[in-house]
Amino acid sequence: MSDYSIYRVMIENALDAFFLTKPDGTILDANAAACSMFGYSLEEFKIAGRQGIIDPASPGLTDFLQERKEKGKITCELVGIKNNGEKFPIWVSSVIFKEEGKEEKTFTIIQDITERKRKELELRTSEANMRMILDNTDELFIIIDPNLIIINFNKATAEKSKQLLGVPFEKGKSILDSAQPERIPLLKQLYAEVLGGAVRRSIVEVPPIHNNPKVILDIRYSPIYENGLIVGAIINIRDITEAKFKEVELLRTNERFFYAAKATNDAIWDWDIQNDKVFRVGDGLKNIFGYDKDIAAMDDQFWIKRVHPDDADRMISKRNKILYNSSELYWEDEYRFRKSDGTYAHVFDKGYIIRDVDGAPIRMIGATQDVSERKETEALLVELNNRLKHRAEELANSNIELERFAYVASHDLQEPLRMVTSFLQLLKKRYEEKLDETALQYIAFAVDGAERMKILIKDLLDYSRVGSNTDANENIDLNLLLQEVKNIFSKTLDDVKAHIIVSHLPIVKGNRTQLLQLFQNLISNAIKYHKEGTPTIQINYTEKEEEYLFEIKDNGIGIDPAFHEKIFVIFHRLHSRSEYTGTGIGLAICKKIVERHHGKIWVKSVVGQGSSFFFTLSKR
Ligand code: ADP
Repeated sequence: MSDYSIYRVMIENALDAFFLTKPDGTILDANAAACSMFGYSLEEFKIAGRQGIIDPASPGLTDFLQERKEKGKITCELVGIKNNGEKFPIWVSSVIFKEEGKEEKTFTIIQDITERKRKELELRTSEANMRMILDNTDELFIIIDPNLIIINFNKATAEKSKQLLGVPFEKGKSILDSAQPERIPLLKQLYAEVLGGAVRRSIVEVPPIHNNPKVILDIRYSPIYENGLIVGAIINIRDITEAKFKEVELLRTNERFFYAAKATNDAIWDWDIQNDKVFRVGDGLKNIFGYDKDIAAMDDQFWIKRVHPDDADRMISKRNKILYNSSELYWEDEYRFRKSDGTYAHVFDKGYIIRDVDGAPIRMIGATQDVSERKETEALLVELNNRLKHRAEELANSNIELERFAYVASHDLQEPLRMVTSFLQLLKKRYEEKLDETALQYIAFAVDGAERMKILIKDLLDYSRVGSNTDANENIDLNLLLQEVKNIFSKTLDDVKAHIIVSHLPIVKGNRTQLLQLFQNLISNAIKYHKEGTPTIQINYTEKEEEYLFEIKDNGIGIDPAFHEKIFVIFHRLHSRSEYTGTGIGLAICKKIVERHHGKIWVKSVVGQGSSFFFTLSKR
């Protein structure tokens, strides 16, 4: 094979593009790499010509051609154009040569430098980026050589090393110059390890220096390799004081949360709304509902699946309404929840909503309480209340009926009684001489009976009238009222030589007739049940916020405590008629009147030492 043939083979198999052109740019020959680099067949390549494959707008093309003309050869970067129009960077070496007697030719070699350019750019930009990142971070980066001499550092190091460590880093000085003296032996050991290929990390507490508070630093040490050899180390320092503080705070908060959850019987939950994950704390879920919290955590739908189907929609819609109203921070609801044994518990669920700056809910922390027992008691109470109401109504009805009966009976009895009395009197008057002693005595008994019956009927009528008389809103000056009572009893008081001591009394609201009767009955009893000596009746009162409290005190025979309540029951008497006259209705009327005036009546008494009747009258 001739030399020429050898070159031909070499060129044909080369990876770079080779081609031969005339001065006007016509391509005379080209190798396979040239055709494939530009995407042509040889024929097409020739037709495209130099102008077709090199972008005429390539920067520096004119200078390139000019220089080649002058020097005969040139190398330069230009822009190639592929058959499909795609442009790419090419490295061009071009030589002009002229054989004796022949036309001048140009031999050009082209390399596709797309990849190289990309790598170059990558390197350039990554270096620039790295520098930018390093200078814009708060973290300190320091590069040292194997002798621990500081070679370079970033902006943050220049600005903050003094503040953080007390001593600024300086290029050309040993890194150990800025270390706390007691740490130097340790650091020497550490650097030896790092420069031996180890990566190390330490958390260092720097005590307060000058005016600077204590700081906590996270320091990482890594070796720097170049061509497989360790040429130094890079030290990265992060100030984690605040993060540490927050970490401790968070730990404490979590701890508090944990213990709070433990201390309560409720099921405590923490719902990460954005990720729809529920975190449960404490034993509430297990204790109340019988579920394991770790198993519950595995199912996103755990809770809602167990809400009673009749409550679920209402519960969710109420909750969403509150969640998506940015002004709401609290949710509560009651619904039924299925326990692990299949029964439903009534729960009271509540939660506090945590929102982001835009008001969107991000978290809700809450507690679920089992209120089944309370619910049952409530239901029971409602039922009991209803029953009581029903009983009260029944009682009120029968009371009304009774009163009506008493009224009608006593009213209607008066007439026939009057007839009995008047005919008895007529009988006595007309036949007195004709009747014997016994007959006259019988008539006297009958008249006496009729007389007593008259009193009884009158008292009964008074009693039944208390209920029907409803006007209780007059202003009554009790001083005047008492005067009236005294007038009524003036003769009796004289007879028994009793006296009444009254303090100045208030003006009260009430029914005049009834209050007159109340004082009359009590004073009449105080006179009637007197013992030997001078009966003294004292009337006092105390004013309270809502009512007046009256006391009518006598120095009479007193009442056995066993009867303190019974004496207010109608017809209840403690004495025979021969001892003391009476019907046993007086105090029953008093009780009724006081109750009509929203008050209470009671007695305090010691047998033989007198009695105090107390009653209240509401100010309303
Ligand atoms: P009556 O006086 O007509 O028997 P009341 O209802 O007025 O009926 O009184 C009931 C009973 O209370 C009386 O029978 C009497 O035993 C007792 N009682 C009432 N007031 C006094 C009083 N001031 N001192 C002692 N006992 C009294």
